[in-house]
Amino acid sequence: MNKAVRKAVIAGNWKMNKTRPEAKALLEELKPMVADVKDVEVVACVPFTNLETALAATAGSNIKIGAENCHFEKSGAFTGEISADMLAEMGVEYVVLGHSERRQYFNETDETVNKRTKAALAAGLKPIVCVGELLWERECNITEEVIARQIKLDFYDVSAEDLKKCIIAYEPVWAIGTGKTATADQAEEVCAFIRATLAKLYGADVAEAITIQYGGSMNAGNAAELVSKTNVDGGLIGGASLKAADFTTIIKAAVNG
Ligand code: PEP
Repeated sequence: MNKAVRKAVIAGNWKMNKTRPEAKALLEELKPMVADVKDVEVVACVPFTNLETALAATAGSNIKIGAENCHFEKSGAFTGEISADMLAEMGVEYVVLGHSERRQYFNETDETVNKRTKAALAAGLKPIVCVGELLWERECNITEEVIARQIKLDFYDVSAEDLKKCIIAYEPVWAIGTGKTATADQAEEVCAFIRATLAKLYGADVAEAITIQYGGSMNAGNAAELVSKTNVDGGLIGGASLKAADFTTIIKAAVNG
């Protein structure tokens, strides 16, 4: 394993938080704090209404902007939805797909995550595809089966070339927004399993090149241990990405990770 071949990515998932003035203020605070960060990709995934504000606030900086979802069709009668092309045209670079909150509250399935992933790739976006088991699934000792299934379905018919443009976020559902973090060993075990699954599907070279994040109550206190693990290439951060100081501490942990 050679962690140095992969760039760590620390992405904030703001969820349904921040008005435009609040978004601008947070990014203006964050910008100078991370201006010297080179070896870690810093991303803020923000609500659709904040995208234009976020892109303007971060122009010329090392903070990249992502959306929190996109629809799989190019255009048409899908009231309330946003297409991948609409995001790409704005200058958005990343998009979070298959987040457990989307799966839980908005009935998203592996099939639609797969369609969204392919639509995002076709538009030139970099998908951050979330996978993760429920607490019940972990207790039943089927974490690996659940994760393998999600990887196979979410990336069905995605070429190796396209897979290399994707990030996979391992987010155990029981750890998201609960304050319960997976231990660093648990995170490493599943991230290594994801890489092994990718190696079987795409070959070892491709698997070695993919950035695999951990997400689930990562914070300023536990980030260093999590990102020090061989197969944990950064994090997808919810709550702690809403505070510039905490998010910066996590980013700096990944620089040393
Ligand atoms: C997330 O929203 O992807 C997440 C991991 O949230 P939190 O860090 O708040 O658990």
